[in-house]
Formats: sequence, structure tokens, C-alpha cells
Amino acid sequence: MTTFKSLGLNAPLVKAVEKLGFEAPTEVQSKVIPLLLNDKTDLVALAQTGTGKTAAFGFPMLQHIDLGIKKTQGLILSPTRELCLQITNEMEQYGREMKQINIVAIYGGANITEQAKKIKRGAHIVVATPGRLKDMIRRKLVDISSINFCVLDEADEMLNMGFYEDIKSILTHTPEKKSSWLFSATMPPEVNTIAKKFMNSPKEITVGTKNAGTKNVDHQYFIVAGRERYTALRAVVGMNPNIFGCVFCRTKIETQKVAEKLIQDGHKAAAIHGDLSQNQRDAVMQSFRKKKIQLLIATDVAARGIDVDDITHVINYQLPDEIETYTHRSGRTGRAGKLGTSIIFVTKSDRRKIRLIENKLQTKLTELEMPSAQEIFKNKVQHWIEEIKNTPVKSELQPYFADTHKGLEELDKETLVELLLSKEFRNFDVYPKSLSFDQEKNSERRSDKKINAPKDKDRFFINLGARDQYEWATLKDFIRSYLKLGMDDVFQVEVMKNFSFFSTHKKHRDLVLRSFENLNLDSRKISVELTKKGKTFSPSKKKKKSNYGVKSKKRFK
Ligand code: AMP
Repeated sequence: MTTFKSLGLNAPLVKAVEKLGFEAPTEVQSKVIPLLLNDKTDLVALAQTGTGKTAAFGFPMLQHIDLGIKKTQGLILSPTRELCLQITNEMEQYGREMKQINIVAIYGGANITEQAKKIKRGAHIVVATPGRLKDMIRRKLVDISSINFCVLDEADEMLNMGFYEDIKSILTHTPEKKSSWLFSATMPPEVNTIAKKFMNSPKEITVGTKNAGTKNVDHQYFIVAGRERYTALRAVVGMNPNIFGCVFCRTKIETQKVAEKLIQDGHKAAAIHGDLSQNQRDAVMQSFRKKKIQLLIATDVAARGIDVDDITHVINYQLPDEIETYTHRSGRTGRAGKLGTSIIFVTKSDRRKIRLIENKLQTKLTELEMPSAQEIFKNKVQHWIEEIKNTPVKSELQPYFADTHKGLEELDKETLVELLLSKEFRNFDVYPKSLSFDQEKNSERRSDKKINAPKDKDRFFINLGARDQYEWATLKDFIRSYLKLGMDDVFQVEVMKNFSFFSTHKKHRDLVLRSFENLNLDSRKISVELTKKGKTFSPSKKKKKSNYGVKSKKRFK
């Protein structure tokens, strides 16, 4: 059997491994550790988070550090503060038997002077986010001119987040003669460019299939109408009472809405998105990690750096534009040898995206039938039965058993069971109307244009459309709730592929134009304009450039 010792790790590191309880090296560790210990080489490793990649580069870097030299010898760049702290923590664990090793994390949103002080004391290894590091280099608070090793961790994420220029500038402050190790879950062309431009004939190592979701993930999808997404989510949660999941939405507003609905329905849920402060995000993440929250509703941007093992389900409330993003999302489950499920809610018209994912992942996605309300309830009862059977008897309650037996003595077993079940589900709507999918079929209409509307109305253009996963009903809901208007105040909503039209009473004109003035949805400016009388707005006359994604990325479309 391959052991960490047989890979070439020295005694203090092997001791740390034993204390950490790692039994055997993971695949990426077996491939990468001997290479980085013995060859002075550059490396491109394709491996997802959760494969043990931090240790794969961390152990060799630690072993190469000369503790007698106070200068910074190793640099690890990571996309987010969250990940930066996690890597630092892991590295400290791995180096725990190396007395005097000093590993310092530097990242934005925290006191720069404090971080500079720590660096000044002598940091053998610096773990940094690109923005803060660049800032500290500029202020001469950190010196990376003598590093021997540079790791670009989650390189695809860093580039997705727009750190290309920062990375380029940081690398100009590092010596030519160093080893660069790049780790990435996927290999989009941008990462390839980095490898070509900044690395010296790197060796390439792939764990699992290139660009594929982990093999431990079961990919499934439900065909739903746009308005049924929430109902579908409830059904999935209902069928999986022990779910510990991440639900991905496309916009901040949607994450908020979904989280609120779940909370109203009695689930432990929270939203995480870019409008939360760093402290709020940390608090949400901490609750999630401690499993005080069962469902985390996130945008892709906010979810970067979420690194939580044990996620049972990833739910794609809406599909992202880019296939890579889907790979990232689904890679958050099925970690550390466990099985995970990635579920997609897809509308009939977007069904072709399923084929594209299948091609990309080289795997078949399973189409599932939505369970009926009865099936869901049956499943809940089954779960409850299992829970009762598995509840350990609490010995402290011993003194009260006799009284309880006596108090319930007149009930036979059957009655007792019926009463307990009724008590457990007393507040539960056993036949919820909203679980009947057929009721909402008319939501598949493209517009509510035929609805009678007042004469003195204004008609508006909005640059959101079917490609943003909107249908007339969901767009109407969004506009109405965003403007805080009543049910009938927004009407004649007509959804096209890239844009839509809607009408309001003239008295709301200022409110509409003002409210949308500064609205950005996931860094994209939402624009609303009054259409000219009698004419509809022609988008071809005023070409709008979409800010979605990176230009060269493959789209689903
Ligand atoms: P990473 O892919 O580096 O984010 O690692 C994911 C998790 O796996 C971390 O919590 C590590 O502590 C843990 N880990 C790393 N290597 C091993 C190993 N060989 N055996 C068991 N757990 C490991």
C-alpha cells in the first residue's frame, strides 16, 4: 500500500499525517507529492476541491522550506478570503510538527497593518488573495522576490473573478527561477494561457476526467415550468429530509426570495450573496458549516470558496450560462469519497442544455418524475419512523418512565401510534395545493398581454428575458415585488429571448424609471426604458452588450 512515508515525506510531516488521521494518500497526493519533492518542475494539476489537493502541494512546499531562512520562500494565491483562510489552516495542520514554521494569511476586508506586522515577523509561506497581495506589494509591506515556490490555487476561479491582471502584476515581483504549481478544477482556455505564458514546460496531472464533474456525483434533472421551480424545490427537500444542500440561483434577489420562502415553510435556510457584508457572509457560512442551516441559497459569485464537505445535494434552481459553472456547482457535492446528487430544474424549452452538459461531462443525466404530494408525505412518515427507531433512550429520563407508562396506559399501541403521528404532523399540510403541478400549467404562456389593461398606461422595455430564465409570470412577480406594487399594477408582460416588455399605470412612470436606474443583477446593469408611443423598442437599433460571463467561454446557447 502506498503510504505518505513511501511518497518521500520526512519525519515531521509523516507525524503530522498520523496525528491528522489520514490513512492513505489520495490520488492527487500520490501523483503530485513524489513529483514535487524530487523534481524541480512546474506543474499544472487538474483536480477539484475535496480531492486533497491542498496537501498535495502543501506537503512538498513545507518539506522544501528552509526554517533557518527568515525570508518568504513559498507563495500560495487563492481566489477568496474564505479559501485563503482554509488553506492557511490546513497548512498549519500539516506543518504542526515543524517548530518555528510561520505561515501568514493575507486577504482583503481585514486590518492590513496587522497582516503587515505578521509578515514582518518572518513568514516562510504567504497565503494570499490577489487583490490584497498586490496592494501590500505596492506598499512594500511584503517581499516575494526570493520565493522558490508559487502556487496558483483554483486558477479557474481566480480568472473567473477577474484576477488575471493582478496575478500578472504579482508574478512580475517573483524571481524567474522558481517552481510554479497551478491547480484548477477545470481547464478553460484562460487557464491554458496562464500556463503557457508564465510556466516553464509544466508537467500535467489530471485527477479523474478532465473538466468532468466528480464521479461520485449523480446528476439528475426535473422538467419544470418556470413558476414551478419553488414547488419542485420543496418536493426535493420533502423527499430528502436529511438534505444538507446548496441551492444555486442566478440573481441576488432570487436567492433572497427562495431563502425567505423556505424559512416560511419551516426549513433552516439562509441566502448568501454579494450584497451581504463580509461579516454577514462569514456568519452564514459558519452556521452552514455547523449544520445549523440545512439549505444554503447562493449565487455563483458568493458561493466561490464555499468549501464544505458533506454537502448531499447541489440544486440548480436555474442553470448557469456556462457549462464550467455547472461543473463547479456540482463539484461541491460528492466529496471525500461520499456520494452526492446534483439536481437541475430545467424548463422544456431549455431541455437541450441537458444534452450539452451530458456531452461535456461524458455522462448520462437521469430525468426524474416529480413526486406527488402523497409520495412526499409517505416518505416523511417513513423518515419519522426511522428516526424514532434510531433514537437512543435517554437514561436521565428513567425516573419519568413509570409515570409516562401509567399516564398512557389506557391507550392501545395502535391508538398511541396514531396520536403520535398526528401530533408530529399537526401543523403539516398533508395535501398542499401548491404541490399540484397541473394547476400552474397556464404559466407556460409566453405573455399576459391579453389581460384587460387601463388606457393610460406606459409600456417599458427591460433587458431581461427568456435567456435569464424568466417567463412572463416570474418576470411579473419580480418587477412587482421589486417595485413593491400590487398584483395588478404590472401587466401585459411579454417575454422575448433577450428582453421583455411590461406595462404599468402612467402614475407609476417615475417610480419605474427611478427604481431601475441603479439596479445591477450579478454585475450586470439592468436597464428599463420607456417605449416610444405605439412602437415597441427595437433592440437592434441600440445594441446592448451583455456582461454575462467571460467572452471566450462556451455558452449553453
Ligand atoms: P482539499 O481538496 O485540499 O480541500 O481537501 C479536502 C479535505 O480532505 C480536507 O479537509 C483535508 O484535510 C482532507 N484530506 C486531505 N488529504 C487527505 C487524506 N489523504 N485522507 C483523508 N483526508 C484527507
